Amino acid sequence: MSSRLTAGLFREIERLLGPGGVIADPDRMGTYLSESRGLYRGAAELILLPATTAAASAAVSLCAREGISMVPQGGNTGLVGGAVAQSSASRPEVVLSAQRLNRIRHVDTAGDTITAEAGCVLAQLQAAAEQSDRLFPLSLAAEGSCQLGGNLSTNAGGTAVLRYGSARDLVLGLEVVLPDGRVFDGLRGLRKDNAGYSLRELFLGAEGTLGFITAATCRLFPRPRGSATAFVAVPDPDSALALLAAAREAIGDRLSAFELLSRFALDLALQTLPGSRDPLDRAHPWYLLVEASGPDSAAEIERRLTEFLATQMERGIVEDGSTASSEAQRQAFWNLRHHVSDAQKRIGASIKNDVAVPVASVPSLIRDASARVLEIVPAARIVAFGHVGDGNIHFNVSQPADMDAAAFLQLWQPVTAAVNDVVAALGGTFSAEHGIGLLKTAELERYRGGVELDLMRRIKRALDPANLMNPGKVVGNWDR
Ligand SMILES: Cc1cc2nc3c(=O)[nH]c(=O)nc-3n(C[C@H](O)[C@H](O)[C@H](O)COP(=O)(O)OP(=O)(O)OC[C@H]3O[C@@H](n4cnc5c(N)ncnc54)[C@H](O)[C@@H]3O)c2cc1C
Repeated sequence: MSSRLTAGLFREIERLLGPGGVIADPDRMGTYLSESRGLYRGAAELILLPATTAAASAAVSLCAREGISMVPQGGNTGLVGGAVAQSSASRPEVVLSAQRLNRIRHVDTAGDTITAEAGCVLAQLQAAAEQSDRLFPLSLAAEGSCQLGGNLSTNAGGTAVLRYGSARDLVLGLEVVLPDGRVFDGLRGLRKDNAGYSLRELFLGAEGTLGFITAATCRLFPRPRGSATAFVAVPDPDSALALLAAAREAIGDRLSAFELLSRFALDLALQTLPGSRDPLDRAHPWYLLVEASGPDSAAEIERRLTEFLATQMERGIVEDGSTASSEAQRQAFWNLRHHVSDAQKRIGASIKNDVAVPVASVPSLIRDASARVLEIVPAARIVAFGHVGDGNIHFNVSQPADMDAAAFLQLWQPVTAAVNDVVAALGGTFSAEHGIGLLKTAELERYRGGVELDLMRRIKRALDPANLMNPGKVVGNWDR
């Protein structure tokens, strides 16, 4: 334990947080110090688990007084090392877990809002909304363990962004413990509020570097009554874009998913997913998973989607398609899409880039980035798929079949730079989801340096002059 964490201080923290509020046993600390990709191994003096906002505020005040750094943590499912503590003798750190801040405070069905604490697991929030016959639309594969505070701090995306936006778009109000322990009480469920700067925006996507979110008021939506899903073949990404524009016109805001995958990506999923089968009779170069949902009956939505696709086949944009006729078939379509990432693991090492460009530039991104990558690794296998409706493509590169995995991974830097340079030239971002954490601070410096990073560091300094809240993450170690 660091010399700054004296026995007296430890007792004071224990008293502030009450029974179950502090973990000091190294064995029990393990799960809070590991990280889902195994890229980092954390180190912390203690795990603090406040159960109320007042307790969180008191604990943060104490840490600030003693110069102890704090690393906010939710479900610890983040993929960029943002919740990893890096305690050292010169900079002792504690993990500040939101796990016990897990109450749904209020559901307002007149205002269509839910107020919940940051440690609520995402699936718990979805269920609470459903109990009130509402929809909380944020949805991602980690929803059984990620938490609201982590979702807001990473501005999580997931599968419903096309229709409902990302986590940031779902927030009306926030309650945050600031790095000095004061509480910013902005927990308002107002749709209109123009009283000065929109401070909540600072904390959304800040990855815990500006404060510890303790609660949020979020938007709720009507629950869709019916949905329809189709697996559609198109000749190329340009046709995918043409279909997206046509779908927006014909289906409007009922369009809820528009996912692109290449034949190679589908083949990978088919080869490795037990019991799967090709949804269409013959192979095509590109596919889309299109879903529509809304207040109409399932039969009505299916009729509209089928009619729309038939028209697009006549126009020559769609080569073939199949509309799911049962929930099992719908699941089978989605399983293929969701399985691509896992399937990639079976063909060796991969270099993954989760990038976004303006929607109109998706075809250029796929074409130009493929060309640049193949110049560096001629036999690389490109696995491009993703949320084309959001301009967000998982541009993943699998190792050549006959190459050594370690030798391929040596090329991580030039391959990533090649992809990100194409993305930047198209006006896109190297970080569509997941954030910066520890993993992408160099990219932030490279692509957002200058005025943009300077502004971020000024904001960090203004809110956290002693650099105690999640130091080293996002804006780097600017104080050293
Ligand atoms: C299988 C899988 C699928 C995923 N799919 C997606 C996806 O589709 N879209 C997507 O965007 N992400 C996805 N992720 C990444 C991850 O689930 C999200 O980033 C999620 O929002 C993180 O939430 P968490 O509670 O686990 O946060 P953590 O991992 O605990 O923390 C993430 C960051 O938020 C900060 N933080 C956490 N809680 C708080 C708080 N209360 N106050 C302030 N800061 C806080 C941490 O310091 C850290 O910087 C996926 C991850 C996995 C493992």
